[in-house]
Amino acid sequence: TEFVSVSELASMMNVGPTEVISACMSLGIFASINQRLDAETIQIVAEEFGFEAEFVSADVQDAIKVEEDSPEDLVDRPPIITVMGHVDHGKTSLLDYIRKAKIADGEAGGITQHIGAYSVKLDGKQLTFLDTPGHEAFTAMRARGAQVTDVAIIIVAADDDVMPQTKEAISHAQAAEVPMVFAINKIDKPGANPDKIKEQLSTMNILVEEWGGKYQCQEISAKHGKNIDELLEKVILEADLLELKANPNKNAVGTVLESSLDKGKGYVTNMLVEAGTLRIGDIILAGKHTGRVRAMLNEKGKNLDVAPPSTPISILGINGAPSAGDKFYIMNDEREARNIATRREQLYREQGLRTQKHITLDEIGRRL
Ligand code: GDP
Ligand code: MG
Repeated sequence: TEFVSVSELASMMNVGPTEVISACMSLGIFASINQRLDAETIQIVAEEFGFEAEFVSADVQDAIKVEEDSPEDLVDRPPIITVMGHVDHGKTSLLDYIRKAKIADGEAGGITQHIGAYSVKLDGKQLTFLDTPGHEAFTAMRARGAQVTDVAIIIVAADDDVMPQTKEAISHAQAAEVPMVFAINKIDKPGANPDKIKEQLSTMNILVEEWGGKYQCQEISAKHGKNIDELLEKVILEADLLELKANPNKNAVGTVLESSLDKGKGYVTNMLVEAGTLRIGDIILAGKHTGRVRAMLNEKGKNLDVAPPSTPISILGINGAPSAGDKFYIMNDEREARNIATRREQLYREQGLRTQKHITLDEIGRRL
């Protein structure tokens, strides 16, 4: 069995994928960044970096049956988009502008609650934005082996430079093979120099289209909403190339974005349905927590009965707070769900008592 890819293992250990590649090479394994590694290799490589790899819950994997998709069940799904970039380069401003401009108009109420993601429509196309400015969300989730983004917008302020976090965002997206669209922001500012940014990108082998390269790039002002539609059109173009599809005709699977305890409502879990359809009453298992879906809300505060693929939702009914990046599954048997949750709880507790430098390959390696 192969478990995780080179890039996933690298991000779990917080090292560069090239370091893992060279560690593999020293073992005589010539691995590419997306190559999946077997248990023995993972163990040896992890050790080289001072980690102990532990493989857990094979029984859990057996209990959770992710249904196979037949081609006729696959339908188009909206792309999931993350905005990443250096601090203060305009991630929040961009997400805020899109949310206000694209949701508020035409739709009563606008956004009433933060659920970690939101959906917008442009020219009849639906887009799902992860609302947590990329970096934290993306790295936290990637560290757990979760990968929810389809397209990354890399935002760079035109009055600044390509910064360390910009580079990091680019290498995260590259490692995950997530296509990037560049947004050169703050072009309204007197000191803005978009060409300088394009030039700096070119030194990293990122050539924008205008310079004969393959990367789409849009100059914008997030603050004034300038050229945002143009940016989104480029994102749609990029997403269209991926021909994203999912099967809505099965039990939902997806990823937890965030969760919290609300005094009145109990545990509130914000999540993204990636495939299948989530329904009220479903028995859900998320990380080491479980429960029945009591209510589902979208970002407009509207109650939903069903949530198809790429829908961000907030649910009530889970008996605790799963972590960002935890996968969720629908179980047929409530008791079995509870048993698995309890077993996981024990595993995590035992692990917590052991060394900090520890990676767990629980569930990683399974694919939607
Ligand atoms: P983040 O740290 O990447 O989320 O950046 P923010 O969105 O919080 O923006 C940082 C600062 O830059 C804020 O003061 C914004 O008002 C400002 N800002 C963001 N976009 C623009 C823009 O297009 N033009 C100008 N002039 N300021 C901007
Ligand atoms: Mg911000």
